[in-house]
Amino acid sequence: MTKVGILGGGQLGRMLLQAATKFKVETHILENQENCPARTLCNHFTLGDINDFDTVYRFGKNLDCITIEIEQVCVEALEKLEEEGIAVIPKPAVLKMIKNKITQKEFYKEHTIPSPIFHVTDSKEELTKYIDFLPAVHKVGVGGYDGKGVELLYNKEDLSKGFDRPAVLEKMTPIKQEIAIQVAVDQTNNIVVFPPVEMVFDPTLNLLDFQICPARISPALQKEANQIATNLVRSFQSPGLFAVELFIDKSDKVWVNETAPRVHNSGHHSIEALATSQFEMLWQILLNEKLGPTDVQQPSIMVNIIGAPGYTGVAKLEGTDSITTKETFIHWYGKEITKPGRKMGHITCLGIIPEKAMETAHYLKNTIRCISEAKENTPKIV
Ligand code: ADP
Repeated sequence: MTKVGILGGGQLGRMLLQAATKFKVETHILENQENCPARTLCNHFTLGDINDFDTVYRFGKNLDCITIEIEQVCVEALEKLEEEGIAVIPKPAVLKMIKNKITQKEFYKEHTIPSPIFHVTDSKEELTKYIDFLPAVHKVGVGGYDGKGVELLYNKEDLSKGFDRPAVLEKMTPIKQEIAIQVAVDQTNNIVVFPPVEMVFDPTLNLLDFQICPARISPALQKEANQIATNLVRSFQSPGLFAVELFIDKSDKVWVNETAPRVHNSGHHSIEALATSQFEMLWQILLNEKLGPTDVQQPSIMVNIIGAPGYTGVAKLEGTDSITTKETFIHWYGKEITKPGRKMGHITCLGIIPEKAMETAHYLKNTIRCISEAKENTPKIV
């Protein structure tokens, strides 16, 4: 049986393992959190640091294939494993380029991919050189995620919010809509593109709030965005599943924001709403199987279940009783502790009416909440 290792055991790893039941594969997880979401679903669990060279190398050397569920891993160990003949998907060179937003943006520029213009900065002080470039978005090179490591700088006074480490300062785009397109590339370079989805972000957490499929965009824009995403992914020259995040600006121009070289939050609806889920698709890539179709079976909306503000402690889900439709699917990631802004699960609702998508999303968001047993700062009664 093919032995496949996944670096990281969070919710993405968990959902990948849930999809593995349809395939002949022996699954291995490397993760340093013992009770992580993927812990109970894998065949073999190794407790260890995905950023440590020896740990990753030892974990990978007896596997047939290795992949990631997070970019922040030891790429050097993956390079050595690749040299020794292990199939590393995506290729370590692509992972290395994507994992740093500076090299990722430079790659876009080099390959004439439309993406907001930028400057590279090394310190906060250096930002004063770019006052005329504002409004702009400052993004840390390495280590940012879910909007952490991103600051919107509108004027001179905002410069103090910038980062004092290598970062990109990107021209602010007047965004009309944010969309994402997943592109799958198999080991013999066949490509399958997923339908574009629309992403609505929480303005305070800067975190994906809702996702609507299909995206409410014109066929012409859909075609253009597909073309841009496909060209970009072809230029990576690597098998893998890639999620390309794009902006549509107020004059309907399409820009690439960033790419994730893995399964992605913007593709969770695919489990129920598409002919092949993003997780099945990645298994098909890893196991050299024919890539499945990506037709939309039903329009959908996906809502993240995010730890409610003010609650830190043992997680508790409330409001599920009021969901009566059998077309609503609640995914719980099995994280014991909730804290404000933590991704705890997601809900996919099928058969939505596109005009009512936002209404449905708000209803779900306000009805199903993740709180904790005891409210933060509530004095304990002893
Ligand atoms: P992360 O990798 O943490 O998700 P992103 O680069 O996707 O960070 O940025 C988070 C959000 O910030 C985007 O979804 C978008 O809403 C906003 N943003 C990022 N870049 C720009 C930009 N150039 N212009 C306007 N808004 C931006």
